[in-house]
Amino acid sequence: MKKAIIVAGPSGSGKGTLCRHLLSVYTFLKLSVSATTRSSRGNEIHGVDYFFWEVHAFLEAKDHGLLLEYEEVYPGRWYGTIHRIVEEIWQEEKVALFDVDVAGALRLKRKLGDNALSIFIDPPSIEVLSKQLHARGTESPEQIAIRLDKAPHEISQKHLFDKIVRNHDLWQAKIEIVKIVENFLSK
Ligand code: 5GP
Repeated sequence: MKKAIIVAGPSGSGKGTLCRHLLSVYTFLKLSVSATTRSSRGNEIHGVDYFFWEVHAFLEAKDHGLLLEYEEVYPGRWYGTIHRIVEEIWQEEKVALFDVDVAGALRLKRKLGDNALSIFIDPPSIEVLSKQLHARGTESPEQIAIRLDKAPHEISQKHLFDKIVRNHDLWQAKIEIVKIVENFLSK
């Protein structure tokens, strides 16, 4: 069965941390490594965190139908789910885990239907997102502003997800997301 867990939420909502937690709990989950045209943050490894592609390579893959979904998540920065990577996960009989933006998550859910569970990570407030992004220190002030600008629209779409995890407390959120995934996969 080709099953999938789709996790989305604003930048700084903690979805990356929650995805890593899920991967540590369930060895049969495997992250779908996306392609992106942004550059590596330095500690990120090509093929592990992302496939870092040049814009022309990304657009070519998109035009050849090699991407299951893609978004220009931020101006000039493309991100996309690579078809072949997802198929390989399913061939290994594992469950695919997607860490994508809200638009991409909704698109994947429409494509995969009941075999996928979409989860929105709901942050306590925009102020908290801002704090997290500044504390993370991986983005320039301009990039942080772009990410924060996008958050209200993303949050307004949370009702379109199968489940919402409120991340007011990371420990609680970890427990909750594990329960939700457990419940979905045991069906
Ligand atoms: P970051 O630059 O912080 O790694 O990611 C920025 C945003 O792009 C995050 O919301 C992340 O989940 C999203 N993202 C990562 N990969 C994909 C993808 O393949 N498709 C889409 N639509 N969004 C993605």
